[in-house]
Amino acid sequence: MPEAPELSGAVSFLARRCQGVLISDIQVSALSAVKTAEPPLQSLVGQPITEVRRRGKYLILQAAEAAIVVHLSRAGWLVWRPAVPAARLRPGRGRVSARISFVDHDGVVVGCLDLTEAGTQKRLAIWVAEDAELLDPVARLGPEATGLTADQLGSILEAGGASHLKTVLRNQSSLAGIGNAYSDEILYRARLSPARRANSLNDDETDRLFDALTACLAEAVALAEEADDLSALKDTKRRHFRVHGRAGEECSVCGTIIASVSSGDSSYQYCPGCQTDGKRLPDHRLSRLLR
Ligand SMILES: [Zn+2]
Repeated sequence: MPEAPELSGAVSFLARRCQGVLISDIQVSALSAVKTAEPPLQSLVGQPITEVRRRGKYLILQAAEAAIVVHLSRAGWLVWRPAVPAARLRPGRGRVSARISFVDHDGVVVGCLDLTEAGTQKRLAIWVAEDAELLDPVARLGPEATGLTADQLGSILEAGGASHLKTVLRNQSSLAGIGNAYSDEILYRARLSPARRANSLNDDETDRLFDALTACLAEAVALAEEADDLSALKDTKRRHFRVHGRAGEECSVCGTIIASVSSGDSSYQYCPGCQTDGKRLPDHRLSRLLR
């Protein structure tokens, strides 16, 4: 799923194309994706986009009188088309859950933004809100992970108590924008175990975590903002990961084989050499299967 850096890249890309132009059409094929009834999504047709921004992992297309808020969830993505397909979306069919089309003030087609979702579990969500920041899931977000201060991180770790670092970094109400992938990268760079208790870090470890978080996200945002295509964002992200998604490969720092832990319906990766004093973290799914 896209995290703050990819969404920042998408915001830059979309702002260059959509800011100031008019919404000419909104089609929805996955009707269940639309979570709000008022104001109606269709009421935005004809309105200009005044700003494209994000909050955490939410993309916000701000129109004159209301905002479209999108959460891509696990399998959702954004596709930009310079030409709008003639065939209209059919309810319940295909990978495109919604399509927002744009024209300039002379009525010339600018392109369309497709919100796509792969897989069978449809979780992509779209809201319309007069004030996006007051929308329930957005209002509950913690401070932005990009732009976090050292003091804020200290408070978040303290409030995290005995929860694992991995859990706290991914908890959107603790800090917004980091998911499974960047939490792996940040902890790897900070040489901290994903299973450390949040409130157990000494000053040096807290500093390392803050530096790793800041550097990791800044580098990823810079890369994502250079992307000249929304589809390239996914590959850019994967290519630069040093531990996430690299189970079985050698760590580029210490040569240890990168390990993986299954949790729920996903998995995360870490380097036992760099992060856990050579110890393997328990893999609950594996131990359950072996029993
Ligand atoms: Zn290592």
